[in-house]
Amino acid sequence: MIPDKTVERLSLYRWLLEGRVDDSTVNLFSHQLAALACVTPAQVRRDLMAIGYTGSPNRGYMVKDLAASIGHVIDGDEPAKVALVGMGNLGRAIVAFLRGRRSALRVVATFDIDPAKTGRMISGSRCHEQKHIEKVIRELGVTVAILTVPTEAAQNIADRLVSAGIRGILNYAPVPLRVPDWVYLENRDVTAALEKVAYFARNSVEGTS
Ligand code: NAD
Repeated sequence: MIPDKTVERLSLYRWLLEGRVDDSTVNLFSHQLAALACVTPAQVRRDLMAIGYTGSPNRGYMVKDLAASIGHVIDGDEPAKVALVGMGNLGRAIVAFLRGRRSALRVVATFDIDPAKTGRMISGSRCHEQKHIEKVIRELGVTVAILTVPTEAAQNIADRLVSAGIRGILNYAPVPLRVPDWVYLENRDVTAALEKVAYFARNSVEGTS
């Protein structure tokens, strides 16, 4: 398995190769990709070696081929089916953002507890009643979930998602979740992240690194 920080950078490299490199650019050297990604050329070479990709000393990396190779590793053979629980302010924004953006990530179901939201299409996705989580997840073969429910509901929903077969959770509720070790959990606590940025901003001294 490739380390998670490497997967993050590979995803960034692909995004840069597909969107930030001029269409006429056929090949790129590690120092050029490194400059775009704000990392060192050695880091780029190490990351690409992790997926068995090596460039040529004379021509560097072929842009399209490299993007496809990264995609092959990150996306696998089939699009990941994604469900989102909690179609409130954040949930709706995420579903709308993801819509049509990456064909390898498909939000196939959303869930909420609020009858005003369930049984309707919201941001292009059908919103199911949360009591049907297990049934819908199993029927559709969903493996990845996004949690945007209030903190007090998060652990219970996570437990149900795991029992329905979910293997990866992106959790936005600012609460630690317990999941079995075969489930990959990524927490996005915006307040904690901002507190960290504010701490370092307060303690920064210009000109030092
Ligand atoms: P919200 O109140 O707008 O949305 C929460 C949604 O979850 C509602 O639609 C509600 O009906 C639904 N819900 C409640 N209990 C549920 C359950 N048991 N099962 C299914 N759905 C349920 O809140 P929000 O602002 O979208 O925030 C959602 C979560 O994300 C919170 O934990 C919040 O702390 C976190 N968060 C929000 C933001 C933001 O910018 N809004 C940013 C970072 C993190």
